[in-house]
Amino acid sequence: MRALRNHGQGRVSLVEVRDPVPGPGDALVRIEASAVCGSERGALIEGVDGNTGHEAAGIVVEPGASRFRAGDRVGLSAVVGCGECDRCTAGQELHCRRGPRSAAKSGGWHAELAVVSASALRELPFGMDTGVGALFTGDALGVPSRGFGRVRSEPAERVLVIGLGPVGLGHVLVRAFEGAEVVAIEPAEFRRDLALKLGARAVGAPGDDIGHRPRLVIECSGRPESIAYALDVVDNGGVVLQSGECHSDVPINPSKTFIRREITYTGAWYYATEDYPAMCALHERGLPLAHMCTHDVDAAHAQDAITDFLGQQAGKVLLRWT
Ligand SMILES: [Zn+2]
Ligand SMILES: [Zn+2]
Repeated sequence: MRALRNHGQGRVSLVEVRDPVPGPGDALVRIEASAVCGSERGALIEGVDGNTGHEAAGIVVEPGASRFRAGDRVGLSAVVGCGECDRCTAGQELHCRRGPRSAAKSGGWHAELAVVSASALRELPFGMDTGVGALFTGDALGVPSRGFGRVRSEPAERVLVIGLGPVGLGHVLVRAFEGAEVVAIEPAEFRRDLALKLGARAVGAPGDDIGHRPRLVIECSGRPESIAYALDVVDNGGVVLQSGECHSDVPINPSKTFIRREITYTGAWYYATEDYPAMCALHERGLPLAHMCTHDVDAAHAQDAITDFLGQQAGKVLLRWT
């Protein structure tokens, strides 16, 4: 099969690799479309053996232990649990007692075939194109949808989104669709313009005056200075939802932040089975998820799209494998 090979420094190519063979109970899926996640930036720059694709949809070849049949169109969830503990049986596999794990069993999903855990397969809404399906069952919708479930916003409420990578853009789309007055901060003009198309009321660059304090700030850049800004700019009694990954320490003054100003600082990671009905409901109500996609290309032309992605000249990048 063909698969994307990530050489580092943003260079990619398609290489021929051996077809993966499913182990007992695992599913084999013919990938029709894969999407590039914002979290792949580091691996694209540093290089990795294979690729780090983890948003994809396609056709079931071998259903393994799943309830699906060969030929079914499915999206893939990148995170699964043991399937047996109380959290997993409640649809909360992100909090699996034995630890959440990657659904990928044959490497990254920027490839023509993938072996995955059977529980990773998700039924796509009727008639949904597998390109949109890759966004629908991936981080693109899963992360902002779960975030909305964790911290809701009211119609006409002001919500500040900091950082407009793919996840930040997803938050803009979902919050605006739910009626919030979204303000977004981002250095790259291309992404600011895209946020306006996705429903943001106003956009600005870091340092711009954003007007009165929002009750909810969604931090998507993961940069320590942006997190400090989010905690500073949120209204007293408000909430900061951390969505951008940040693995470094951030100094916080607990008395000032949590006691005097009564701010709530929380986060949300990926999505789980318990979130899927709400995601399907967004689709049924007409969420224009495809508008996030700025690059929809044959996988053979991945390089140009990924160069744009790394240059912050892209929303979601879709690679087609058929
Ligand atoms: Zn991701
Ligand atoms: Zn479990």
